[in-house]
Amino acid sequence: MMVAGVRGIGMTSARTRDRLMQRLKEQGIRNPAVLNAIRSAPRHLFVDEALASRAYEDTALPIGLGQTISQPFIVARMTEALLEDGVPEKVLEVGTGCGYQTLILARLVPQVFTVERLAALQQRARRTLNDLKIRNVRFKHADGNWGWPQHAPYDGILVTAAPEEVPATLREQLAVGGRMVIPVGGAGGQDLLLVTRTDGRNYTRKSLDRVSFVPLLEGTE
Ligand code: SAH
Repeated sequence: MMVAGVRGIGMTSARTRDRLMQRLKEQGIRNPAVLNAIRSAPRHLFVDEALASRAYEDTALPIGLGQTISQPFIVARMTEALLEDGVPEKVLEVGTGCGYQTLILARLVPQVFTVERLAALQQRARRTLNDLKIRNVRFKHADGNWGWPQHAPYDGILVTAAPEEVPATLREQLAVGGRMVIPVGGAGGQDLLLVTRTDGRNYTRKSLDRVSFVPLLEGTE
């Protein structure tokens, strides 16, 4: 088991984290609750020990199995967009990965449902969040292209891997008024979209940024 206090020495210093906060603010992150959630999240617990000294740099880092932990700025940007109209009660996250974005969501919204297609990552994320005493997250090992229909509709959906198009199944699991933040496009880079469900049939979409995510794949491993 990891002991947060021990592994954290030197890497959780107030100065290191203040520097990250400063950078996020300079890049335009405004929501104080989001900034605070990132400030208090022990990101070093989500990366390999060999990379822990870089955990509070504003960069993506490898987490094994060809996947990455998202850059703090992107996590902040996506979370801020999801919360812009108020705090959603129920949020679905597709692409748990190491669980860092999951932790940020868990500290800001009442209920989080998170789906990951790689069993090994899913289990590790579950353990890490359990060690952090996070109790408002439910995990599922599944292909997130299908969402998690049993708990739909969701007030928010956050997708952290990129499909070529917004999956219709995910859109349909949004509540009316619900918001989805999702990177859409190919390997060369994607548009980060905010998709809002305006009524039973209609959605609006707005482009927020250019981003670079791993692809949303099919099936489970
Ligand atoms: N949210 C993570 C970053 C995840 S990287 C963080 O906080 O750092 C993207 C993740 O999406 C990877 O773990 C990948 O395995 C997963 N993924 C890709 N396609 C998926 C799918 N169809 N369903 C669920 N997860 C998927």
